[in-house]
Amino acid sequence: MIKLYDTKLRRKVGFTPLEQGKVSMYVCGPTVYNRIHIGNARTFISFDTIRRYFIWRGFDVTYVQNVTDVDDKIITRAAQEGRTAAEVAAEYTQAFIDDMHAAGVMDPDVRPKATEEIDAMLDLVQQLVDGDHAYEVDGDVYFDVRSYDGYGQLSGRDVEEAESGHRTLRADGQGLEDRKRHEADFALWKAAKPGEPAWDSPWGPGRPGWHIECSAMSHKYLGLPFDIHGGGADLVFPHHENERAQSEAACGCTFANHWMHSGMLQVNSEKMSKSLGNFLLLHEVLETTRPAALRMLMLQTHYRSPLDFSVERLDEADAALTRIENALKNIDWLASNATDGAPDVLDSVSLRALATDAHEDFMSAMDDDFNAPAALGAIFTLVGEVNTMVADKSLSVADAEAAVAARNTIAELLGVLGVDVDAAAAEASADYPLEVIALAEQLAGYGGSDAEEAVEALLEARARARAEKDWGTADGVRDGLAGLGFVIEDTPQGARVSYEG
Ligand code: AMP
Ligand code: ZN
Repeated sequence: MIKLYDTKLRRKVGFTPLEQGKVSMYVCGPTVYNRIHIGNARTFISFDTIRRYFIWRGFDVTYVQNVTDVDDKIITRAAQEGRTAAEVAAEYTQAFIDDMHAAGVMDPDVRPKATEEIDAMLDLVQQLVDGDHAYEVDGDVYFDVRSYDGYGQLSGRDVEEAESGHRTLRADGQGLEDRKRHEADFALWKAAKPGEPAWDSPWGPGRPGWHIECSAMSHKYLGLPFDIHGGGADLVFPHHENERAQSEAACGCTFANHWMHSGMLQVNSEKMSKSLGNFLLLHEVLETTRPAALRMLMLQTHYRSPLDFSVERLDEADAALTRIENALKNIDWLASNATDGAPDVLDSVSLRALATDAHEDFMSAMDDDFNAPAALGAIFTLVGEVNTMVADKSLSVADAEAAVAARNTIAELLGVLGVDVDAAAAEASADYPLEVIALAEQLAGYGGSDAEEAVEALLEARARARAEKDWGTADGVRDGLAGLGFVIEDTPQGARVSYEG
């Protein structure tokens, strides 16, 4: 059984889905006023990993993530740039989707936008007003936190101590706090200021508060209750406390069955944030770093713990990824050079047992509140064991089968965590210069148009020439490849090529 840490219960609990075999998840999305930084990315990658693991464990997952496309920060940016809020939001919504694709994060099943869900929000606000959970003041509508018994339970705060997350002053200079019945009461609906985006409502033109959108959208797309509500730990209060209060007050039911929060990505022990200026934008990091390496870095820390980011750690994660890739390439190469009739040199029974152990260790680590560092440990152990077993060996066909099975286990388990090693390797060969195709045509009679195949054809031609003691042709192939940046290494198991660029 999968165990997860539930923020509200403050302990790990066994996960029983509301509907057998299914998981409904809602993870708060970005406010689209600029490109996201790698702190934001950590939260999205954490929940992407959790989602992928549920899928691998056979669950049918429905994953909803909103886009907050109306907000003070968007309006401010639009005003600074002389654009409409809708233009700013559209630009950064697309940039966010592009960034998530570049980082290898799966698309949500539904990605609702706040501005397209105003009716659902108005219905919810109306329901809260009708049920005496909300009150209107001059076109603003506030949630009355004392009308709902459970306020503070998620974050473990006392209502009387709780402070409002909103400290914005109105255009008329009057503090919001003065207008509310209780300091922790929060806006469900905000009266429009001149020039701001506004929608008609029973309380006059205005726009939704931030919290109401997630309540309305999760209800609409997942139904209540749903299984898991997630987000960064900084959202527990006030955002998630408020979402929960308004949703449960309105429906008289449980909102999210479980609450999960990921820890903050930090730099020098300080949260990475726009306001502190200590941020690195995701798309900038991905210009020089492979997405799989960034993912490796994220996976090396448990999703609930703070993650201390540094460029050195990112480089180390990249190196760890390269070691795994090289191990897999080595096995592939040994397997492609396996010889019929060669004696079996591997203990394939224990090799298969090691792969089964890794599989089990991986699963028990991930079942235990998605312990990715321990799961990675199981994969690394297998990599090391297989490496040692195959080192300097010429494999028989039976050996190769066992080695490739272990190799495939490594690739599969990394894939569950969102690290696609085979794609990363394909990317490396995508760097091969296209001139190698012409070289293969000339020296090996190659007729295709694939650089990787061309290299293989050249190596085969060289091996044939060497077998026939045709040293001129063999050297010609080696020199031709060297001229394009390839290095050939002759080993007892045959020639190996690497591209140095
Ligand atoms: P925002 O656009 O600020 O609402 O943030 C979008 C998501 O990123 C939320 O789930 C936040 O919890 C998360 N987030 C913001 N900063 C960090 C950080 N330094 N580390 C991890 N997650 C973060
Ligand atoms: Zn939310």
